[in-house]
Amino acid sequence: MKPAPRTFQVKSFGCQMNVYDGARMAELLEAEGMSAAGEGADADLVVLNTCHIREKAAEKVYSDIGRLAKRPGGAAPMIAVAGCVAQAEGAEIPRRAPAVDIVVGPQAYHNLPALVRQAAAGGRALDTGMPPLSKFGALPARRRQGPSAFLTVQEGCDKFCTYCVVPYTRGAEISRPFGAIVDEARALIDMGAREIVLLGQNVNAWRDDEERGLDDLIRALDALPGLARIRYTTSHPGDMTEGLIRAHAEVEKLMPYLHLPVQSGSDRVLKAMNRSHTAESYLRIIERVRAARPDIAVSGDFIVGFPGETDAEFEATLAIVAAVNYAQAFSFKYSPRPGTPAAEMDEQVPAEVMDERLQRLQASLGRQQLAFNQASVGLCTDLLLERPGRKPGQLIGKSPWLQSVHLETGAAIGDLVAVDLVSAGPNSLAGRAAPTWLPGEGRGPAARTERLDPGLRRGTARVAA
Ligand code: SAM
Ligand code: SF4
Repeated sequence: MKPAPRTFQVKSFGCQMNVYDGARMAELLEAEGMSAAGEGADADLVVLNTCHIREKAAEKVYSDIGRLAKRPGGAAPMIAVAGCVAQAEGAEIPRRAPAVDIVVGPQAYHNLPALVRQAAAGGRALDTGMPPLSKFGALPARRRQGPSAFLTVQEGCDKFCTYCVVPYTRGAEISRPFGAIVDEARALIDMGAREIVLLGQNVNAWRDDEERGLDDLIRALDALPGLARIRYTTSHPGDMTEGLIRAHAEVEKLMPYLHLPVQSGSDRVLKAMNRSHTAESYLRIIERVRAARPDIAVSGDFIVGFPGETDAEFEATLAIVAAVNYAQAFSFKYSPRPGTPAAEMDEQVPAEVMDERLQRLQASLGRQQLAFNQASVGLCTDLLLERPGRKPGQLIGKSPWLQSVHLETGAAIGDLVAVDLVSAGPNSLAGRAAPTWLPGEGRGPAARTERLDPGLRRGTARVAA
């Protein structure tokens, strides 16, 4: 029997929604009187907040459990497996890894404190229930999250792409109520957040009973004093409404960045994936978004080697990459997931073919990302400082286009500062603190947006004082 834990560590893997859930589990445990274990210290309770999206991610949990169970020089901690592996594998987890004390799914983690008590009393504790939305009402108040804070507004998915486990692990698509989201945003701002990132598996599918959509939510957040930036992720092409596209033209705090996964450039593959868009309809959306916000940084997700994908179909993916010109992207080899229709399809693509396709795709996306960063050099823009850099006096912040920028500065984390972008690499840029904005203008995003003419919306050259 393991004693009641006094310290904990939450390790989150996978998507930003897991990061949000991990923060909320930490808040729950703190509300119970436990404290986060210090850097490098052994925690009494370790929560592995897992990801099931690809096989590699799902298998990683078992090596982590093995390491924890044989912790050198100390007793094994109480081990909780949370997240999508917990939901998908349930009671199978302690059967395969008997060191596990608690299994808790993503819709049941509000019960974590009770499960910890049950485990401390000597029982093994399991909860993979899926009560819609009840967890949010049962969570304690938000605590300080740093300058950029995640806020989950929508969960689950009804789209059933044939390769994807999300509809099974996260359940049906649900939207949190408007008022609860705005209240949580206010609490985050009161605790120092300058940026809020609205999260959902299909965040742009957010709706409420009054027929409000994500654009209405964004406009409500835009009105909150103290908030400087709004982002949202991940979107589905099928839910990219005219109102949301218009918000990119009209809402000053909405950052010029859109993550819109396409997955493939081949219409046959998209159909087999059960995606509701074609390559052409996706390109039309990008065109409309760029008309609304010409400087927008477009990012996407890709899967190579979906069952039956031919060379020509893969070339169609390279063609859509060339047509869109991405600022950033995530690309994956197809991973068959148990229980999904694609896992049963004939003609699984051999591993070496997938490897070769992924390399070619990533080379192309990497060139585009570097070109996007290089095209930013010479611009003056605003930077939200988020964390320390490696060198003394250096901080790392995010540009409006979600680029990481290194800056030597006397400013503090959480400050929004003016910066000249002076050099660029594939993954980050270097900036120089900009002493002034254009004459007569204040600092910050408002100044940036006002002074840019629509043809030149990616920042501007700074006028020296
Ligand atoms: N809802 C978003 C959408 O529809 O585009 C994506 C959310 S999903 C959690 C994140 C990404 O994981 C997907 O866009 C897809 O590229 C990738 N993914 C999902 N299932 C996968 C699988 N079986 N194999 C490889 N990649 C996968
Ligand atoms: Fe998965 Fe996204 Fe498709 Fe839903 S829409 S099934 S989350 S890839």
